[in-house]
Amino acid sequence: MFDLIIRRARLSDGSLTDIAIHGGKIAALGEVKGHAVQERDLAGRYWLSAGWIDSHVHCYPKSPIYHDEADKIGVATGVTTVVDAGSTGANDVDDFYQLTRSASTQVYALLNISRTGIVTQNELADMNQIDKVGVRDAIQRLPGFIIGIKARMSSSVVGANGIKPLNCAKEIQHENGDLPLMVHIGNNPPDLDEIADLLSSGDIITHCYNGKPNRILTPAGELRASISRALQRGVRLDIGHGTASFSFEVARVAIAQGILPHTISSDIYCRNRLNGPVYTLAHVMSKFFSVGMTLPQIIDCVTVNAAAGLRLHDKGRLAVGYDADLTIFDVKEETCLFTDSEGVSVTGEKQLMPLVAVVSGQWFITDEGKKHHVFDL
Ligand SMILES: [Zn+2]
Repeated sequence: MFDLIIRRARLSDGSLTDIAIHGGKIAALGEVKGHAVQERDLAGRYWLSAGWIDSHVHCYPKSPIYHDEADKIGVATGVTTVVDAGSTGANDVDDFYQLTRSASTQVYALLNISRTGIVTQNELADMNQIDKVGVRDAIQRLPGFIIGIKARMSSSVVGANGIKPLNCAKEIQHENGDLPLMVHIGNNPPDLDEIADLLSSGDIITHCYNGKPNRILTPAGELRASISRALQRGVRLDIGHGTASFSFEVARVAIAQGILPHTISSDIYCRNRLNGPVYTLAHVMSKFFSVGMTLPQIIDCVTVNAAAGLRLHDKGRLAVGYDADLTIFDVKEETCLFTDSEGVSVTGEKQLMPLVAVVSGQWFITDEGKKHHVFDL
């Protein structure tokens, strides 16, 4: 007897499967025989994937500007796992950890290498804020929560320090088991070439399709040689849409050249959730239909690729033994206006509508799901 069987779910490749869950794990796939305490039949009508992972969010509720609540950007919108990207540093990460224990959404953190996190917004302008011992102690205190580190490498954050904080970040990374490092790019200095040349396999560039002069494309629209070399070394590209960091034009040109993102993330916090241009991870994902990506590619970016990049080894796949984190969604074929961070709008033809988030086998109907009464008992 399983805990839950979801029958006739449509996968992103169009095929149908049943999926049985037991003890918070995926227990069987394919045509599942037997019974469960609870059974749901999607009748091939609704889509299902491994639970969506948002690799770049801000959900430390006490952060003065960039704050939000984990469940509002998580299970309420079909996202089963959120990864906070550097809201907190060593000073506040314990408090952040405690506050997120009551959330239904699974929350992880990339620790800001500055002890203040993003509270000051220019957290790397004073090198004294980078406290290597503080970082190491925090990682050792919260090993299942802190899964990597974050360094924001743009002019307003680093002040006169240029590339120096990134050298420190790489040292910290090596001193702490080579855990994932996410680097934010934005206005220069430091120049993107200088940043890219310091990154190695597994490092993540977030805001990869930003439209600022320090973008990944040359003025002629070609991929910068430094980014090409970085990708060959195994550096990963993350969207980190945010308020100011996604350009349809850069995305379209890059994707047309085969430069796809490894992960699609939102960089969501309360203000860009409520007022746009982010709204939800699903909304951000839907924008990628308009720039040449397919449903399977988009889903991979928030499941298998996200889990690989952040080394969440039990997540991101529909396979026996993996965590029973699932997202059930609809693909609405209707026109919708999408706006990027530059104020440019594109009319899309498809929208992803998350209906249910299943977290460790627990069923949460999303805000959209509640509105449409799809899964009412
Ligand atoms: Zn961010």
